[in-house]
Amino acid sequence: PQATPDSETVPETGPGSGADPTVVLAEASRRRSFAVISHPDAGKSTLTEALALHAHAIREAGRADGKAGKRTVSDWMDMEQARGISITSASLQFTYRDAVINLVDTPGHADFSEDTYRVLSAVDAAVMLVDAAKGLEVQTMKLFAVCKHRGIPLITVINKWDRPGKDALELMDEIQDRTGLVPTPLTWPVGIGGDFRGVIDRRTGDYTRFTRTVGGTTIAPEEHMAPEAALAREGTAWTTAVEESELLEASGADHDHETFLAGETTPVLFGSAVQNFGVHALLDVLVDVAPSPSPRPTVSGEPRAVEAPFSAFVFKMQAGMDTAHRDRLAFARICSGVFERGMVVTSTRTGRPFATKYAQQVFGRERHIVDTAYPGDVIGLVNAANLRVGDTLYLDKPVEYPPLPTFAPEHFAVMRAKDVSRYKQFQRGVMQLGAEGVVQVLRSDLRGDQAPVLAAVGPMQFEVAQHRMGTEFNSPVTLDRLQYEIALRTTADWIEALNAQLGVEVLQREDGEYLALFPDRWRVTSVRNRLPEAVLDPLVAT
Ligand code: GDP
Repeated sequence: PQATPDSETVPETGPGSGADPTVVLAEASRRRSFAVISHPDAGKSTLTEALALHAHAIREAGRADGKAGKRTVSDWMDMEQARGISITSASLQFTYRDAVINLVDTPGHADFSEDTYRVLSAVDAAVMLVDAAKGLEVQTMKLFAVCKHRGIPLITVINKWDRPGKDALELMDEIQDRTGLVPTPLTWPVGIGGDFRGVIDRRTGDYTRFTRTVGGTTIAPEEHMAPEAALAREGTAWTTAVEESELLEASGADHDHETFLAGETTPVLFGSAVQNFGVHALLDVLVDVAPSPSPRPTVSGEPRAVEAPFSAFVFKMQAGMDTAHRDRLAFARICSGVFERGMVVTSTRTGRPFATKYAQQVFGRERHIVDTAYPGDVIGLVNAANLRVGDTLYLDKPVEYPPLPTFAPEHFAVMRAKDVSRYKQFQRGVMQLGAEGVVQVLRSDLRGDQAPVLAAVGPMQFEVAQHRMGTEFNSPVTLDRLQYEIALRTTADWIEALNAQLGVEVLQREDGEYLALFPDRWRVTSVRNRLPEAVLDPLVAT
């Protein structure tokens, strides 16, 4: 075992002191932290419940559509329930075999993709969930691009095989053609979509036969059979599947660990989340092939060893999760060392100490107190009003992780308090929503403090902001949409010249960046022609 570097010894007393690097390494290596990315309706909530069910974390899976009379634990905020979409992110931890699995939940609606992008910076792998009938959809492709950019290995699950859908081989072609990833199926379906009998395990050649359960709310019993028994049982459905599987083998579509980690290939599984088919296989793949936490690069470029003293970064802020506790929760992903409840950590941005008396694990409405956590784990820190998305937390010597990517907003609106005497509440709310990353807040001298401009990737972020201003900050607001669609980065030197252009406005974002807003790309072109020297750069994801 590697020793902790000399310069970074942990304190001698207090929580978090004397962490044994050997233990930290062992705990980190059994962690698997992942997120599910999918287009809305592909079955993400259903799969989440099925995973939890298989891990015995939840006795009976609540059906996402509420048909079984229960709601899934990941749907909880008022607005989420009313709209039937998941807005907020939480994480679910469970053990499976000897591994500790952390499933970091992502919002289902495309309007909240900015949140999803941040979640993706906190995981080591992702599961791309594909609806067998629809194939790769718009949101799947967008999220895939983010994973590719960040080098996150992907496992693909073809879901809803219990319903008629596309041909399995066609789906493989679609994945390869549209993502450039080579699909390497680990299982192959026996029976076409809508006639799902089971799957061949392509590594052993054995057959796993599924049994339907009523409503899919209990663990589906699986029957394992050798090929001869499978042939006798399924006849041509079996021989067809075997032939197709051999075809794949001939074309080199077999799993390879190196190319998977390099983001060149993606293992594929077939299943039916609603029937709990194939969920065991996914858990096994997570344990057997998904990577455990690795040293994370810091701003100095130096990766931080997982066994170094405690460090984490905040990837998500949450407020008003529970109307009974109006707290601010900061979700942090642990990158190194051990977290122990009660530990006093420091925020790199403010240099201020933060007492972690109430660390929690939050999933849906359920909260559990966390006493100890390791790299790969996600902890929810309560009373975190002074923390911000992107903050690094550390014990002992300062460390800083690179800022989280921000995305170019495409929707803009001016927010004003309905009751101007509630100025304080208004300002507090605006600041908080900005800090949580619910919206980006833009200001300018021209507009003044009373009328900040909110910027968002999806317009529904505005609705959340407006709703929360009223219910949480006691400052009902009006929102007026602005006709801008494009934001480009500029500098303070160009404010005046750009503001003088018709339909163009420069505002400053909280991170200090100056954003020039344009109604459309034609205006961008004409301004570029008129002011060829002007700094106008795209706001790219980093
Ligand atoms: P999300 O928006 O991705 O979270 O999708 P949900 O989990 O809410 O699922 C959307 C709909 O598809 C719901 O009505 C589910 O019951 C249904 N669904 C999910 N998985 C399956 C599946 O494997 N087979 C079938 N037939 N329906 C499914």
